[in-house]
Amino acid sequence: VIDQGQADHAVITTCAYCGVGCGFKAEMKGDQVIRMTPWKDGKANRGHSCVKGRFAWGYATHADRLTKPMIRAKITDPWREVSWEEALAHAASELRRIQARYGVDSIGGITSSRCTNEETYLVQKLVRAAMGNNNVDTCGRVCHSPTGYGLKTTIGESAGTQTFDSVMHVDVAVVLGANPSAAHPVFASRLKRRLRQGARLIVIDPRRIELVDAPHVKADYHLPVRPGTNVAVLNAMAHVIVTEGLVNDDFVRARCEDRAFDEWMQFIRRPEHAPEATESITGVPAADLRGAARLYATGGNAAIYYGLGVTEHSQGSTAIMCIANLAMVTGNIGREGVGINPLRGQNNVQGSCDMGSFPHEFPGYRHVSDDKVRAEFERAWGVPLQSEPGLRLPNMFDAAHGGSFKGLYCQGEDIAQSDPNTRHVVAALEAMECVIVQDMFLNETAKYAHVFLPGSSFLEKDGTFTNAERRISRVRQVMAPKAGLADWEVTCALSNAMGYPMRYAHPGEILDEIARLTPTFAGVSFGRIAALGGSVQWPCNDAAPEGTPIMHVDEFVRGKGRFMITQYVPTDERSTRRFPLLMTTGRILSQYNAGVQTRRTANNTWHSEDILEIHPHDAEDRGIVEGDRVAIESRAGETVLRATVTDRIQPGVVYTTFHFPECGSNVLTTDNTDWATDCPEYKVTAVQVRKVTGP
Ligand code: SF4
Repeated sequence: VIDQGQADHAVITTCAYCGVGCGFKAEMKGDQVIRMTPWKDGKANRGHSCVKGRFAWGYATHADRLTKPMIRAKITDPWREVSWEEALAHAASELRRIQARYGVDSIGGITSSRCTNEETYLVQKLVRAAMGNNNVDTCGRVCHSPTGYGLKTTIGESAGTQTFDSVMHVDVAVVLGANPSAAHPVFASRLKRRLRQGARLIVIDPRRIELVDAPHVKADYHLPVRPGTNVAVLNAMAHVIVTEGLVNDDFVRARCEDRAFDEWMQFIRRPEHAPEATESITGVPAADLRGAARLYATGGNAAIYYGLGVTEHSQGSTAIMCIANLAMVTGNIGREGVGINPLRGQNNVQGSCDMGSFPHEFPGYRHVSDDKVRAEFERAWGVPLQSEPGLRLPNMFDAAHGGSFKGLYCQGEDIAQSDPNTRHVVAALEAMECVIVQDMFLNETAKYAHVFLPGSSFLEKDGTFTNAERRISRVRQVMAPKAGLADWEVTCALSNAMGYPMRYAHPGEILDEIARLTPTFAGVSFGRIAALGGSVQWPCNDAAPEGTPIMHVDEFVRGKGRFMITQYVPTDERSTRRFPLLMTTGRILSQYNAGVQTRRTANNTWHSEDILEIHPHDAEDRGIVEGDRVAIESRAGETVLRATVTDRIQPGVVYTTFHFPECGSNVLTTDNTDWATDCPEYKVTAVQVRKVTGP
């Protein structure tokens, strides 16, 4: 880091990377940011930060930033720089032309978890009110949509139950399908502090993640689950709790639906769920599983922290319901130090979901078929709205292949890079007649676009992000938008050009509209956030004017908690003679998502190439040694990486990250999705690995 001297002023804002949502001071000299320092009053980070938030903001001023709108007739044509007016008029007339020719449902929009709440709200409003359909989705589809479905079904709200502060009251932490040391470092350091104070730790992960044997921390149990078998492991834990008499009867009888609980008890008692019966499926030794279940049920305050290793599976939603079953059956919900804690990968996954960017829900998770709710939005927005859910992201691709989906507005999301089975996505984009990309950089999706609208970085925006603990924090503009318009202004201008008026003087007015239309946000405003010290956790309304740190305290949001039957169903993606290994994916500390931001900063010097982790036995079988180039082939595609031989990964499983798109782990991932939400099964891909010889 280069010390660039004394700042003349500072602006408090929120990190643009992970779902911890750290508060930062942008230290300024004139209109230039010279340093980002963690904000000591930030309630999510309390003065701490990691290498991403602290040092990796240089992408905002990177030479690759595009600042001029561009259009072209065909994707093989060169781009032509045009004025904002011409670009927006062209985009609007193309979208209307497509609707006139192919029907009102032939276009849609995609929002991003990297955009603010206000921007996301506007995109779904544009789709519903200006385009006249519900074809809106978000990248939350491909990460935490099962969290939304599973938690709504069981406890009534699509959100984590606690604050990060609550970890300091935890006696037993279960870290499941997550690697906080790399992906949520500020939370990880608080968790480690609590572990060093004596809290116990259970890690459930195919990989021996850093937490398992971090300095001065030792996991009591590491359950090395085989990819794709989380549900069998979690059911086995519940089986132990039930059959060994560890149920919290008082909690369950007072707080949960009797009938659903009784049915679940019958289901979970069945011998097929016993750890000894599931050991050959999950790879987890029965004795360890029994020990972990007993510890979770009897060790005091027990909290589950989980990540994409739970959700990105064909049974992602089922696994979330298993987690809720475990929390309810032991009474580990509704107070400090317990609960269900999704660790969100991106800064505003929670917010983008809250803001109604799924095709079936208005802001606040209310179904579009609810006549009363829809009437409220129709009154506020002044247009009739569709009552049928629209297309999800993968359905848009399928419809494009089928010729019925022809136009897409994509804000801040690089679907050609981030979504599974790249070939399928690219073919869908090529089949469309108008793809509009709004982004800071000419990303992979822009290669298939007809209109490019330059986007703004977090340093150029006003608004709010909502982190993994439902904390709504202010994002403050520290420099003018490089392209002249902020992202929210671009969406408004596109809507106006399409003939549906959208006028706001400032993002604060957008948040006021959100608050008027969303009961859980009813008390939220820029003013309230400032008065409460810079952030507030929703629900924030008349019943909870200062926000809600812990949910489900006296009763669940849905009233009584509902146990769900969670039958384990093996994924179709199994190892075969042709593809004998299972590939899973994750993150590293210095990079973020597809690397669009971090790889344009000094962080790239720390880790500039992707690797494939392979167990020594599997490496030896294939004649692979450390540093070899290896080809990885799945039924979807093939790529080449450098091998690292390590026993951090179990035999039969290989591991890579998704930070380096040119190596393309998504070239390999398949079309399998979660049964309830269509979240892709990124975490299980059957592959073969062979050493590459020659150039
Ligand atoms: Fe905090 Fe996450 Fe940003 Fe790191 S990346 S500074 S942990 S919000």
